[in-house]
Amino acid sequence: MKQAIKKYKEALEEMVWQFGYRGTKNNQPIIWTGGLSALESAFEVLGWDDPHYLPDAEGYCCEIQGCVEPDTSGLHWDGLYLRLCSKHAADCFKDRPCPSVKQWAIDREAKRDPVTRRLPGSHS
Ligand SMILES: [Zn+2]
Repeated sequence: MKQAIKKYKEALEEMVWQFGYRGTKNNQPIIWTGGLSALESAFEVLGWDDPHYLPDAEGYCCEIQGCVEPDTSGLHWDGLYLRLCSKHAADCFKDRPCPSVKQWAIDREAKRDPVTRRLPGSHS
């Protein structure tokens, strides 16, 4: 039974990550229900506030220093592969200079194989 509950919780979290709305509040990345009752029920079961605050950390927001907008695309900019918000992705497409990048992205990119461009342990 304990195993089943763990699986249900994991399934709910997957649903929330896939369908929840991403944004910012109080200069922090958030995920929220958007008022959708199915997501409200899922947040309640998970014990999450609505909005649920996310860390300013890898995988949760744009990788440009000082930006906490949701990351919407992955692009190459000045030799780095970066997860970017829509505003910074637009700047990248316009060939604007790349602003300062968050340290975790610099550290990750330094581990990329110079020939295959893969990260250690990555198969894609
Ligand atoms: Zn950004």
